[in-house]
Amino acid sequence: MRFGIFGDIHSNQEALEAVLDDMQAQRVTHTVCIGDIVGYNANPAECLELVRSLGCPVVKGNHDEEASEDRPIDHFNPLAFESMTYSRKQLSEDQKKYLRSLLMQKTIHDFTVVHSSLDGPARWIYVFALTEAQNSFVYQRTQVCFYGHTHVPTAYILEDGGVQECFYKRLVIQENKQYYINVGSVGQPRDGDWRAAYAIYDTEENTVDLRRVPYDINLAQQKIIEAGLPERLAERLANAV
Ligand code: ZN
Repeated sequence: MRFGIFGDIHSNQEALEAVLDDMQAQRVTHTVCIGDIVGYNANPAECLELVRSLGCPVVKGNHDEEASEDRPIDHFNPLAFESMTYSRKQLSEDQKKYLRSLLMQKTIHDFTVVHSSLDGPARWIYVFALTEAQNSFVYQRTQVCFYGHTHVPTAYILEDGGVQECFYKRLVIQENKQYYINVGSVGQPRDGDWRAAYAIYDTEENTVDLRRVPYDINLAQQKIIEAGLPERLAERLANAV
């Protein structure tokens, strides 16, 4: 099986379509979404319907949660506040119900998926350091776990009680090691590379490949401006920070 594992789409329809095309070209047989379908960019409803049409396992992201609830978001920074207000307006009640129904983590085949950390997935911890990765490994029952949330594709590898961090293009899954792998972001990368990111896990080859896919960024930016969303969101796509 070849699993295409993708997430942090953040309403970027152009990036999502490019990733789905790339998956087809790469002979992906199954898809899994690690959450944050909505938020930030211009097409939350379209992205949600695209993901839903795949019929694949999906876990909940923090933006999926906020967009589907009515609670106040006054504590958000102005950029997040405006984009979340927009996402809430764009989504139908049925679409919000779908987002509310998503689970925090899932086990698929021989791996786990979660949006942030297995150490209390609903606390939306940002895993940027060894300590947080170590805390997630405590709860990891499979050899491999995929996650997102930071929009930075890094991998943590646990061997003999010690954790190492690495940036990866390709990982070969080896016995006696556990892997906690960030698949990067489809719709708003923050690692300096503007191209959409996702990963392919090949269960026969025991490999994980990070894919980078160019997409029509100009159209995505134009839609953000036309929707009346903050210009900084459009600039951010190009700067990838
Ligand atoms: Zn996100």
